[in-house]
Amino acid sequence: MSETVVMKFGGSSVADADRIKAAAKRIVAKREKGDRVVAVLSARGDTTDELLNMAAEVSGTPDPREMDMLLSTGERISCALCAMAISDLGHDAISLTGSQAGIVTDTSHTRARILDVRADRIEEALDAGQIVLVAGFQGVSTNKDVTTLGRGGSDTTAVAVAAALGASVCEIYTDVAGVFSADPRIVPDAKKLGTVSFEEMLEMASSGAKVLQLRSVEYARTHGVRIHCRSSFDEGAGTIVVTEEETVEHPLITAVTHSTEEARVTLIGVPDSPGVAGAVFGALAEAGVNVDMIIQNEPPEEGKAADMSFTVATEDLRDARTALEGIIEAQGIQSIAWDEKMGKVSVVGAGMRSHPGVAATVFRVLGDLGINIEMISTSPIKISCVVSADRVADAVRGLHGAFELGDADADSGAQSPHGAAR
Ligand code: ASP
Ligand code: MG
Repeated sequence: MSETVVMKFGGSSVADADRIKAAAKRIVAKREKGDRVVAVLSARGDTTDELLNMAAEVSGTPDPREMDMLLSTGERISCALCAMAISDLGHDAISLTGSQAGIVTDTSHTRARILDVRADRIEEALDAGQIVLVAGFQGVSTNKDVTTLGRGGSDTTAVAVAAALGASVCEIYTDVAGVFSADPRIVPDAKKLGTVSFEEMLEMASSGAKVLQLRSVEYARTHGVRIHCRSSFDEGAGTIVVTEEETVEHPLITAVTHSTEEARVTLIGVPDSPGVAGAVFGALAEAGVNVDMIIQNEPPEEGKAADMSFTVATEDLRDARTALEGIIEAQGIQSIAWDEKMGKVSVVGAGMRSHPGVAATVFRVLGDLGINIEMISTSPIKISCVVSADRVADAVRGLHGAFELGDADADSGAQSPHGAAR
């Protein structure tokens, strides 16, 4: 029996006509090997950002339903063009919107979650020998409205389709060779990882690694989907996300990740009484805002007001402020302050579980670099520090060097032979 393969191409891999044709060739080559092929495409290049700007030009607070109607067009363009290119190569292809492909989501516009994939239309097309192109990043809600899945959501479309079809692999084609020990643009000797565990990948995606959308990793882990992140520009093997049992070695530290898009929100004068934190984070949850680190200071005296700080993604700051402004009076909170110029640096590694001393090294390295740590959070396999956004790159380089994660004998991590061999 032939295998089903899902191939996802990111925005840079379909950015112009030549790249669309190159993607079409790659898809066709897979089909000619005998596989049943579904390709999930992202919007071309900066299309999604351009669409967001268009919305901002006509409205200060664009209606979320209409925003999804707008944003979902980017992926449709990519799929229709690629289908045309494939048919010029002598193969039968059909493009489908998320809705046509049976991607059913909840009703939270611009950040919808996939509830179900009703893949019969995809299956029928595959049975008829067609190559199926599915528009990423979108679905149809239980209210029959078009929804989108949040930035980077095409990864989640690809994984969900792979799960629904029982595909043997979900290949994520991108402009980098795989998952690296740090962002190669910041750390030139960063090393490509041959494998990474779901647990590590989840921590990396949630702490700034941009290769995969966090939800796609969660979805893949829950549904047992094999992910292979690889370059659309060459044939080399990339990084395979595997279960922890499948990983052979557990390096102490696998990667240093970072983000420069963190905002810190501080609530000043929070009454020292039960229920306030519940009201604050309840309001944020209702607004769909993901809170990362939380720090609550001790009140200066029993029963006196204290301050509470937490971080959110910069893109969520506006929603967070709106949600909080709605409750601070009723909760007796004095005021809200925020700082948009925060960043975060994290070290991730499954080996950390069984080795003490990692935190001490992290703090010493940052201290030696004169970088002030504003907030700290940990998990069994991650240590994250919030620092000023303009020191993030120095922090990443310092930590990557201190934990000796570099690829000593490769001048460009992107060409690393090590990761591929593992
Ligand atoms: N086009 C969307 C974005 O730029 C979704 C994706 O590419 O995965 O976020
Ligand atoms: Mg992406």
